Amino acid sequence: RRLEEMRRDFVANVSHELKTPLTAIKGFVETLQQGVDSPAQAERFVGIILKHVNRLQAIIEDLLMLSRIEYEAKNGGIQSVTSRMADIFRDAVQICRPLADENRIAIEISDEEEIVAAVDPVLLTQATVNLLENAVKYSEPGRKVQLSAHRTASEIQIVVQDQGIGIEPKHLPRLFERFYRIDKSRSRAIGGTGLGLSIVKHIAQAHGGYVTVESSPGAGSHFTIHLPTADRDQPKRPVM
Ligand code: ADP
Repeated sequence: RRLEEMRRDFVANVSHELKTPLTAIKGFVETLQQGVDSPAQAERFVGIILKHVNRLQAIIEDLLMLSRIEYEAKNGGIQSVTSRMADIFRDAVQICRPLADENRIAIEISDEEEIVAAVDPVLLTQATVNLLENAVKYSEPGRKVQLSAHRTASEIQIVVQDQGIGIEPKHLPRLFERFYRIDKSRSRAIGGTGLGLSIVKHIAQAHGGYVTVESSPGAGSHFTIHLPTADRDQPKRPVM
């Protein structure tokens, strides 16, 4: 019953999230059709329409990404290959660079142990990008974001730490739910879909891992992707 309830909530949420930009697009197209006062006004309306179209596209791309991860996790698992964390970090930072530069945020990378692991590099790059983009989006200009990799006895950790606005404790348990946002209008204004962290959670789970967050308002946030190092695909050898 709980699963059925979650599915219903999800469909209702998706419909609502798609309907809002669609209603705006329809309204502005109809206004344009009736004729406007000046070319400048027409241009302004077209700009608004484009913004909402981009929003629809971002939501649909994130939804497709979620269903792709779910499908792969169910059907034979993800495509793990031996990958260098340094390569994944380089690709992720390159993707986030324009947004970071625009917000005057410096991204520092550290991978002292030069970690190599069996992961799906495309998915892990995506998860890292989502965490980095949030760190940049929810920080004031001039702050620093740190991206680092660590190895413990049983796992590899990818850590994204920011000096941003932080998160109140009451939001933390629901943060990774689809479409959960603390400040809806702020998230929308900076181009968020509310799906970024849910994608990160699914990517970690597809690797047999999980995500954690430590944060408090004003003190910044610290997100960690935990990936188990035990070989997931190989059956355990019997103890002799
Ligand atoms: P969005 O697209 O809205 O950023 P996410 O799923 O990525 O959606 O994040 C969900 C919410 O968690 C965000 O709307 C924001 O309120 C909060 N959040 C995520 N990352 C951070 C961060 N690094 N600092 C502060 N708040 C964050």
